[in-house]
Amino acid sequence: MEEENKMEVLKIQGVPASLGIGIGKAVWLRRENFVQSEQFLASETERRFEVDKFRNSLKEALKELEGELEHPKRKLNEEERAILDTQIEFLLDPQLEEEVLTEIEKQGKTAMDAVIECVQKYVNVFRQMDDAYMNERASDIQDVGSRILNHVASQKRDVLHLDAEAIVLADEIYPSDALAMDLQNVKGFATQVGGLTSHTAILAKSKGIPAVLGCSHELMQVKEGQCLILDGEQGLIYVNPNEELLRVFRAKLEEAEEIAKRLAATSAKSAQMKDGTRINVLVNASNLDDLQRGMKYAADGVGLFRTELAFSGKEGLPSEEEQFQLYKALAQEAKGLPITIRTFDIGGDKPLGISDLEKEENPFLGFRGIRIGLARPELLETQLRAILRASAFGKFKIMFPMISQVEELRKAKMLFGQVKSALTLAQMPFDEHIALGIMIEVPAAAISSDVFAKEVDFFSIGTNDLCQYTMAVDRGNEQVRALYDPYNPSVLRLIRYTIEQANLAGIKTSLCGELASELLAVPLLLGLGLRQFSANATSIPALKAAIGRFSAEEAQIIGQKVLDMDSSELIKEFLQSLK
Ligand code: PEP
Ligand code: MG
Repeated sequence: MEEENKMEVLKIQGVPASLGIGIGKAVWLRRENFVQSEQFLASETERRFEVDKFRNSLKEALKELEGELEHPKRKLNEEERAILDTQIEFLLDPQLEEEVLTEIEKQGKTAMDAVIECVQKYVNVFRQMDDAYMNERASDIQDVGSRILNHVASQKRDVLHLDAEAIVLADEIYPSDALAMDLQNVKGFATQVGGLTSHTAILAKSKGIPAVLGCSHELMQVKEGQCLILDGEQGLIYVNPNEELLRVFRAKLEEAEEIAKRLAATSAKSAQMKDGTRINVLVNASNLDDLQRGMKYAADGVGLFRTELAFSGKEGLPSEEEQFQLYKALAQEAKGLPITIRTFDIGGDKPLGISDLEKEENPFLGFRGIRIGLARPELLETQLRAILRASAFGKFKIMFPMISQVEELRKAKMLFGQVKSALTLAQMPFDEHIALGIMIEVPAAAISSDVFAKEVDFFSIGTNDLCQYTMAVDRGNEQVRALYDPYNPSVLRLIRYTIEQANLAGIKTSLCGELASELLAVPLLLGLGLRQFSANATSIPALKAAIGRFSAEEAQIIGQKVLDMDSSELIKEFLQSLK
């Protein structure tokens, strides 16, 4: 032990992809590395044999995937289902089958070589796409590929049994790996490749497993069985930590568990300020799971439902019926609480469901959100019809994204009126009084919020984009990360002005950007007059507790003080001092 303590602690930096701390032994995920044999099959009989082998393997892989999807003991969440659905779609793609068959029948390749080659071709195409989301999909294809190859090679996939607490390491963790693991003892995931939008990140978050991804070749230095601390907040992995470091992190882990328990108890109540002022805390969601988690923490409803994410990973845009079914299911889950549905905010960094959009130099400044909705009214109409039909089953609100001009809003409202009339004519029931609002996320909309406030029933401030457009920084660009700062006085002034104008017009404002989840910002936002927060489910307990620490009067003084400050540095220092 003495010796170990003296050993230097190696620190590996990656991308913080799922919050939390994990401590455990390193376990490398080993998977079969299939290589091409370059064998040439001269005879027809051999080729026919390989064709049959491929066809059977394809069938078996499909059976395996469908089996996982329907496994009675495994309760899959929405994310896991979506991933498996995408993989099934790829397996059923006739183009893949045809290409592999051509390689075997015409080129005399073995089933193994043909599958490796065709899958690699698709992987390369996805990796080369100029879109982080699409790049990550390459690993799904690779995953499906190895499923087929396992059957071609007549090998059973190894299931990872972990009998002690472990941090699982791999070049990449495929969805099927995670599904095949007994997650009970998995305390963290660390990978060489993969980023925030990878499916490993999505799965880790949905399962509450801390993850540090994209550690590059540095991760190779970790040996099987070494003790690791994984810090999912900082994106750090400590290899062979000494006793001192272990003590610090064990204490942090205990503290986090303690806080989570305490907060879970208080979160069952609705949020109130110290003086009893009632604050609405809503949940941001993009699937049923998020909504259920929000309900667990007694959220007051859904403040933002990101429809473009709800249907991502599917080819093309969803039909009216598909949308209606999801919105109706949301209504049933929400049990009368309001659900704010945002119409598709496609474009920017969001995965597209429309294949014929032109590639843009500056997608964040281009064809995005309501701009697409108005240019392709059939898309918006279909979505509005689906929401309106679902409104017969629950309380919905509708919100348009990326509004920058009042004309856009008026056109969208006109379209909305037409859809309502058509439904009335068809004698289809819907909520006649459904509220209509807009995202305030473009500075132009914030600056003219007095004008917009006269035209809508509510505002929702999207600080993620409001900050990006006010500060002229791409929200995903690491190089300018320091400039992406919602505490900048200019951003705060826009938030304050928007809330003031909404109050003057007698309409409600909520804030649904990530700033709503930042505890540091809570007294400030309350002080600027915000009374509705919409945040990720996991942030709700701490958010409710933070709200309870201030009275309306105290918050107002804090808000005023902050508005008198001229730099974000000063503002953050002051807010830190209140903690
Ligand atoms: C925002 O811009 O703050 C927002 C909530 O929308 P999104 O993050 O989906 O762009
Ligand atoms: Mg936005």
